[in-house]
Amino acid sequence: MNASDNPAHILLVGAGLTGALLSIFLAKRGFRVSVYEKRPDPCLYPTEEGRSINLALSHRGIRALKQVGLDEYILQHALPMRGRLLHSQGQDDRYVPYGKDDSYYINSISRSRLNSLLIEEARRYPLITFYFEHVCEGVDFEKNTVFLRHKPTEAQVIAKADVIMGVDGAGSAVRKQMQAQHNFEQSVDFLEHGYKELTIPPTASGDFAIRPDALHIWPRKSFMLIALPNVDKSFTCTLFLANEGPVSFNSLQSTEAVEDFFDTHFADVKTLMPQLSSEFLKNPVGLLGTLRCNPWYRPYNALLLGDAAHAIVPFYGQGMNASFEDCLVLDQCIETYGRAWAKVFERFQQLRKPNTDAIAALAIENFYEMRDGVTEEAFLRMKQLEHQLENTYPDYRSKYSMVTFSPEMSYAEAQRLGNLQNEWLLAFCRQQTNLSTVNLEEVYRALKTAVPVA
Ligand SMILES: Cc1cc2nc3c(=O)[nH]c(=O)nc-3n(C[C@H](O)[C@H](O)[C@H](O)COP(=O)(O)OP(=O)(O)OC[C@H]3O[C@@H](n4cnc5c(N)ncnc54)[C@H](O)[C@@H]3O)c2cc1C
Repeated sequence: MNASDNPAHILLVGAGLTGALLSIFLAKRGFRVSVYEKRPDPCLYPTEEGRSINLALSHRGIRALKQVGLDEYILQHALPMRGRLLHSQGQDDRYVPYGKDDSYYINSISRSRLNSLLIEEARRYPLITFYFEHVCEGVDFEKNTVFLRHKPTEAQVIAKADVIMGVDGAGSAVRKQMQAQHNFEQSVDFLEHGYKELTIPPTASGDFAIRPDALHIWPRKSFMLIALPNVDKSFTCTLFLANEGPVSFNSLQSTEAVEDFFDTHFADVKTLMPQLSSEFLKNPVGLLGTLRCNPWYRPYNALLLGDAAHAIVPFYGQGMNASFEDCLVLDQCIETYGRAWAKVFERFQQLRKPNTDAIAALAIENFYEMRDGVTEEAFLRMKQLEHQLENTYPDYRSKYSMVTFSPEMSYAEAQRLGNLQNEWLLAFCRQQTNLSTVNLEEVYRALKTAVPVA
């Protein structure tokens, strides 16, 4: 399709990770794109505003970036993490690789850097215009009109477009307006856990304080700490903890309480966090929830994508990756149906909703696996066995690998196959306490029979 002679005008609300990438996909198809964002331009004023500082970018996200020619460029700003390093209490640290060899890794990248890189790249397209510090306050879908407030001047701004896309995150103002439709369904399920970010700075000699090529996990049953490396050689740690209760963010309100909690549960890592208590008491607690809604569109002129349509908990590191995959799939729908928006949107939701529902469920399951499972011996044996299977049989893929490294397999299929395979393997490893006596070929054949396509 060539829209360049009379480019349809698409208005995006939100210049976050999804909005910035989506604008590039749309401009490449020849659409005129206006992007309205409530924050100041992150290229000029980099702020984090309490959102996660770094993210794991993996194959699904990379595939979408590749489609617009940005994969290699973006990856230059990322650090590879090739496995999980488990720091369990009272045990030796255990490294669990993500895949069969070093070519399987996920990438730690700064959220604000990634956002700025995408916006800088989008600015190269004359068809894209950004309007920062514009807050969407309402939408009149009947009149294709978005009502905004320009923050510095408090002026009311009215913008019109042929199509309106809400890429304004979990608290989407565009979605709120869609809720007024009689057939709109929405649910938000919050975890009882929230999160808080903390820092492990570089050592005095300017080096990484812990191994930089891994995602570090300190699993402690009802809570856990993780750490991802940054290019400045610091680590961003995230503590996931209950919001309320005897051991909770609510109970840790003083320096003494924080110090005591870390002395008891994270003594090894505490020594690496000189600013622990001040950071802990200063940094906000973030909420974690799963948002589901339906439909994601109005037939002829409006669509939700990214977190605005399907925010998930972060335990599979897939929220942004799924949102980038949204951009790729929407692009394919436009390729097929052109400007027949009703068809484009309908097909987009048909293709995406089962998959975003699947990754939402997988992400919640992974919370419990990371928190509890990694402390169970049978689970660790299963990981070891999976590693042997991956190394020996080229067609064997772990569930993690299906979700993270296999973008050609849908999330829904990864969920179905991965869960069947894991159930079988875990049951096997609960019975087999000594893996050195196990005949791998027999395990592989039995697994193939039990879970045929694995
Ligand atoms: C702790 C944590 C860790 C995470 N880790 C990972 C990870 O490792 N890997 C991964 O893939 N994903 C991860 N995620 C998920 C990821 O952050 C989101 O999926 C991703 O940010 C979604 O991008 P988005 O652009 O759709 O939404 P957002 O990033 O929320 O962007 C929405 C944009 O819209 C703007 N906006 C909002 N309201 C308005 C309005 N009314 N008017 C104008 N503009 C507006 C916002 O300012 C923002 O810029 C994590 C999330 C959290 C909370």
